[in-house]
Amino acid sequence: MPSTPPSDALNAWFLGPRGENAELLERLLTEALRDHIFWRRNHHPEDGFTIRELDKRREGYDRAVATLTQELLGLLAELKRGVPFFSGRYKGHMVFEQTIAAQVGYFAAMLYNPNNVAIEASPVTTRLEVEVGAQLADMMGYAPERAWGHLTSGGTVANFEALWFARNVIYLPVAARGAAEELGVRLSVERADGSRADIGELDLWELLNVHPDAALDLWQELWRTAPRDEVQKALDSYSLQALGYQDYARKLEERFGDALPPSVVLVASTAHYSWEKIVRALGIGSNQLIFVPVDTRFRMDPEALWRTVVELTERRVPILACISVCGTTEESAMDRLDEVLAVRERARWELGVSFHLHSDACYGGYAASVTWNRDGGRRTADEIRASVALAPEVEEGKPWPSPEWVRSMEALAQADSVTIDPHKLGYIPYPAGAIVFRDRRARELVSVDPPYLLPTQGLGSAEDLFLGRYIFEGSKPGAAAASVWLSHKVLPLDERGYGHLIERTVAGARILYRALGQADLRPFRLIRLPEPDLNIVCFLLTHPGFRTLDEVNALNEGIYARMSLSEPGAQPQYILTRTRFQTPMYDGAMEPILADLGLGSVDHWKAGGKEGLVILRSTVMDPFLAGGSPDGPDHVAGMVQEIRSAAGQALRELRVV
Ligand SMILES: *Cc1c(COP(=O)(O)O)cnc(C)c1O
Repeated sequence: MPSTPPSDALNAWFLGPRGENAELLERLLTEALRDHIFWRRNHHPEDGFTIRELDKRREGYDRAVATLTQELLGLLAELKRGVPFFSGRYKGHMVFEQTIAAQVGYFAAMLYNPNNVAIEASPVTTRLEVEVGAQLADMMGYAPERAWGHLTSGGTVANFEALWFARNVIYLPVAARGAAEELGVRLSVERADGSRADIGELDLWELLNVHPDAALDLWQELWRTAPRDEVQKALDSYSLQALGYQDYARKLEERFGDALPPSVVLVASTAHYSWEKIVRALGIGSNQLIFVPVDTRFRMDPEALWRTVVELTERRVPILACISVCGTTEESAMDRLDEVLAVRERARWELGVSFHLHSDACYGGYAASVTWNRDGGRRTADEIRASVALAPEVEEGKPWPSPEWVRSMEALAQADSVTIDPHKLGYIPYPAGAIVFRDRRARELVSVDPPYLLPTQGLGSAEDLFLGRYIFEGSKPGAAAASVWLSHKVLPLDERGYGHLIERTVAGARILYRALGQADLRPFRLIRLPEPDLNIVCFLLTHPGFRTLDEVNALNEGIYARMSLSEPGAQPQYILTRTRFQTPMYDGAMEPILADLGLGSVDHWKAGGKEGLVILRSTVMDPFLAGGSPDGPDHVAGMVQEIRSAAGQALRELRVV
């Protein structure tokens, strides 16, 4: 078949803001329902009927149907007070409508209600989930024979698992040393600097700084030394998982005499708030969460990361993991992951320090599809630009993407784990998060049973398909797996599918960014934050009469109140959202913003900025914004117009008070 442009296909991917593809969706949903009914009718047709036609002629039956119908009508009416995510007027959070494929896939599988906790409750959809995990791993650039991934209910749980695995990998050498002693076996291990030694020779600091890959080799080695239940028993008397923090700490002191300070987790200071919850839940403690400063583009500052690592090493504080962000929740900023990885390498060779490196790509992960062409090769920045095809004046001299952007995306292939939310840029219904590991052996470290599989056995075996063994959650929707699977079939994870979709959203965001830059909002002045790495546009308004941060905040809060559903009964013309930049998280990004506002220095901000700075935020997940519709309204102009009018009203209210 000759290839057709993905822009044609785009029109078939969604129901459409006016339900333009209603017939298509209706046909597919009906197909799914009827097909399911055929299945039931053909399942032991000799069984006869449980509910007979005459049973349906009874009054009680009619009443039950009437109640059902009436209540449904009530629910349908209620639901219309929901958020119009599908609309070109919605530019708030990271959500748009779902692909038709995802909706139909979900509905079709939901009728069967499979539970992906175990293959026996989901013979079909567990396989789909494993396939989806492999597709996402592939999109990251992971080696298919080593990688592994699965779905979760969302990014928070996926991130939780990432740190749970990371912790177990980092602490494994300590347990392995104890186990080896107890079993009376010799185990050789690779130190951070690449040299080999008997595990008994490593002190606590060295044990905690074994590279994650070497730790997994060690794990595999250990199981070969003795019968499985003996290894398990020996490991359990030394592993944090079995002992819990209190006993573990006591044991370490007894054994090594030099109890180290608690291990820490490094995160970009723009990291999602789930990380705070996770370190609390895992017993690591939020005091051990260290925020690495960001630069003026909201990306983790690699220099600052290096300084942090050096400083921690001097104090002999072990590092469990470093969390880099690919697509920050507030700004869609992408860390220079290639540079973050370089810091880890440098730490390994220069300091003998190692840690797990995770990329939180819950928001931005699907953007990796932009870097793949239809033949499975990578696209260059130039090739991507050619297909985004933005007018030069929209680019403002800074075409997207930069070669560095492409490099950060390609670097995902070297992260130890990545989390990606299909229910964000995958345009899949909730709940659908995902985690992928570069090295599938890691999952054995959290499984509750001893490993049945040596890595030579494996993929596709019954044990492999019992997902519940390796994941935090239990019962989970097989429908979500079918949903993601079908959507990936229709929109491939490359330039033809998701790549095109996400390119269009970036184009839309840049058009909006330029329009905000050019808008005449006098007497107000609109300050744009730096151009986003993806598709979230952040800005704020100010007024020449303002002298304090409080006034600026009040104006922007006022705009937000008029352009959101935050207040009951609100009927905004356009919807955006807002965030609050606070000290010290955002200190690294504040200088240009404060200078633009004419509101003092960063030091002044640090001292008085407890209230933070209110930032308006507009996520462009609508792929149609960039093209505009031939006879529809221009939503970019409409949005700008609405901001002007909301600012005027907000100012009047401020003056009255
Ligand atoms: C959304 C998000 C999360 C959390 O994901 P949920 O699916 O809401 O649990 C974590 N990290 C980042 C960067 C996110 O954008």
